[in-house]
Amino acid sequence: MDQDKNKKTSLLTVPEDNCSSKERIDSRNKGEKYPLLSYHELPDYMKDNEYILDYYRANWPIKEAFFSLFRWHNETLNVWTHLLGFLLFVGLTLANLVDVPQMVDFVTMITEQFPSSAESNISKNLSLGPTKLVDLKQESSILTSPEITTTTYWPFYVFLCGSMFCLLSSSICHLFSCHSHRLNIHLLHIDYVGITVMIITSFFPPIYYVFQCTPHLQILYLTGITIMGICTIIALLSPALSAGKYRSLRVLLFVSMGLFGLIPAVHALALNWDDPHRNITLAYESGMALSYLIGTGFYVSRIPERWRPGWFDLAGHSHQIFHVFVVMGALAHYGAAQIFLKYRSTMGCDAIA
Ligand SMILES: [Zn+2]
Repeated sequence: MDQDKNKKTSLLTVPEDNCSSKERIDSRNKGEKYPLLSYHELPDYMKDNEYILDYYRANWPIKEAFFSLFRWHNETLNVWTHLLGFLLFVGLTLANLVDVPQMVDFVTMITEQFPSSAESNISKNLSLGPTKLVDLKQESSILTSPEITTTTYWPFYVFLCGSMFCLLSSSICHLFSCHSHRLNIHLLHIDYVGITVMIITSFFPPIYYVFQCTPHLQILYLTGITIMGICTIIALLSPALSAGKYRSLRVLLFVSMGLFGLIPAVHALALNWDDPHRNITLAYESGMALSYLIGTGFYVSRIPERWRPGWFDLAGHSHQIFHVFVVMGALAHYGAAQIFLKYRSTMGCDAIA
């Protein structure tokens, strides 16, 4: 019911916004059909960050909004940071689909940069006597032969698809949300769903591969995070939570979903403390967590533009920095996911039972 009311309001306000925008355009610059506007000239629905003072697009037709991809305005870098991130993940997905053995070579090359932990574990296995000889044999094969045994890839691709969906929906949101109030609301919803999907799908590779030999935990954690994600999406899609003033509450929802990851992470760590891959996966996942945390810090605090309003309108404002950290976090998680995948590809449950 509230949504209907909201829709009606949106429908009523769009022509009004278009009209007032046209008047502004005429009075400001007759030569240019769609000039960039300052913050105080914006329709109310676009007033989100008072520290970005200029270079706004407002009520632009879809075609103009699309071609603004190649124009400087205060969303240009917001669009491009996630568009390039999306293209990067498309490339990574294709590389994995086309040439799996090469991917394993790449992972082997990286993991060999951290030989000390693997070697120490192998010597530890040796000292444990014959019961661990199977592990030693498996470890040797990981380090010397990139051949893959059979394991399922779908959790890895679920994560890649979730990341691509998030990055693409974010780019589209930033590019077209200047079109109208109604489209702005829809695109913001898609953007929130994208973030949630990325968080949920990120849990799939680590939980699936780490807990592969304990299916009840695997199902418990994957079901838990999926239910949590669905509840978050339902909450975010409610008209009340879409309002700009609930930005902090939305962030809280995303952060609490991320923090849920600490439970299976600590559990996995406790179960696999002696594993040679511990340090490298921990390094990747800590890198991911740090990237997301720093990025969220910029997003919430609106630093640096709050210190110098107007200085960072085109480049360097908090949202662009947040975007870069999101891509970096996703890449770090990609690195970790490859290790988990490779681990299960070379070591089945029998070996660690
Ligand atoms: Zn964004």
